[in-house]
Formats: sequence, C-alpha cells, structure tokens
Amino acid sequence: VHVVSTPAIVLRAVDYGESDRIVTFLTRDTGKLSGIAKGAKRSQRRFGGALGLFAHVTLQYRQRPGAELAFLERTLLIRPWKALLGSLERYAAATHVVEVADKMTLEHEVGDDLYRVVLGALARLDAADPGPATLRLFELAALAACGYGPELEACVACRRPFGAHGAPARIAPAAGGAACGLCAEPNGAAASLSAAAVACLAQMQRAVVEASRDRARGTEWLYEVEAVLPASLGRTVAGEVSAALAALLVPHVRGRLRAAELLGPILSTR
Ligand SMILES: [Zn+2]
Repeated sequence: VHVVSTPAIVLRAVDYGESDRIVTFLTRDTGKLSGIAKGAKRSQRRFGGALGLFAHVTLQYRQRPGAELAFLERTLLIRPWKALLGSLERYAAATHVVEVADKMTLEHEVGDDLYRVVLGALARLDAADPGPATLRLFELAALAACGYGPELEACVACRRPFGAHGAPARIAPAAGGAACGLCAEPNGAAASLSAAAVACLAQMQRAVVEASRDRARGTEWLYEVEAVLPASLGRTVAGEVSAALAALLVPHVRGRLRAAELLGPILSTR
C-alpha cells in the first residue's frame, strides 16, 4: 500500500491507549480522513507537535482498501498558528469552525473547497479576534463549499427579490433559503427576519460567492467584508443572522453543534 501525501487540517484528535492517538483530518486532496498515529506521544520525529487541534500540516498516510482507519506515517507543520490558541474567544470560534466542517462531511466525501474555507477561517481567527460576522461568513462559505449555498436574495418559493424594504421574510431550512411572508407557511419556515437581517445575509452571501470564484486569492480575504458590515449589524440583527445560519445548517450537519451551544455566550458577551 503506497504512501499518500496531502495538505490537511486537524479537525479532531483523541488519545488512544498508552501512546497512540486517533486523529481526524480534513485533507485537501482526499476529503475527510481518520487515522491512527502509532506512538504519537513518543515520536517527535514523525509527528513533532503536529497532531493538535487545528494544526495545518502535510500529512503522509497509508490506507488499505476497506480499512476504517488510515495508518498515519508522519505529519509536518506547514504553518504554525501564532495566536489561535492564545485567547478563549479565538479558540472557541476555531472549535466551532472545525466542528461544523467535521459534522457536514463524511469520510472521503468532500473536495478541496471546504478545506480552503476552513483554512481561510482559521487564518482569519489567527490574525484577530472574531467579530460579530466572522463565524456567520464562515458558515455561509462552508454551506456553499458543500453545495448547499442558500438562496437569500429572493424568495425560495416565488422568486420575488427581497428589496431594501423587502416583505417580511422567514428562513425555510428545508427549502434552502429565505421565503417571503406569503410563501413562508407552506414551506415550513422557522426563524423570522427583519429587512435589515435579510439585507445583511444577502450582502454576506454575495461576498462568499465572489470569494469562491477567485480561487487564486485564497479565502482569507472573504473576511474583508466584515469591515463594511458592522454599521448595519447591531446586536439585534446579529442575533437574527446567527439564528438564520443556525437554522440553515441543521439539515446538513450530523447532531448538534456543541461548540456553538457551549461557547456562544463567550462570544456574544464581548
Ligand atoms: Zn415568496
């Protein structure tokens, strides 16, 4: 069985037995992958500090056909995060990022779009504390990367655009977007949205689409749109936007998003 080499990000890691570690990665080339690092705690040479949560590494592994776990040969740190682990806010936000990526994907399933989105989000959080829109932009980008980009410019049912003073809208998770007041009921819509929240969501979604088209620039610059959002993003609107994204994620993640539940209060009391 030959050795595969790919850039990867650590999504999850647990100690196993005396000296091994089981690690789940989101790789650039082969999707999500779980493997066992034999002697992880002893072998600085093979894994030196590169099996921790969020680590951005070059991963070398072997996997027999049909085997549940890959055999991890070695990991080499590509880029050390300098500040990601230095504040509770950044750590909490990064935990949410890797949990969403983990719960949205199956093993070996997804291409490199989600990898790029996760990497961009971690780089953003390494550079500065999360703002009110940071994780919402990540969530929209993750949905888009997995082919679930929501419709937020117009009603998912009747296609009427939400104007600047758009009709009352509600999030319709099963339909994959927002529905107008007239269409909301029959489409099982949940959370309601003010016109300001609809406009904010649409603006963020446009930034996500633009960022995904320009692959050469990477996905970090998606977060530049944060600089123009806060003026319209008061606490009430931020709450609506947050609830809307939470609802849109539900059909596409396995189980509950625990980091968001546990750490939401940390992020919202800033
Ligand atoms: Zn409608």
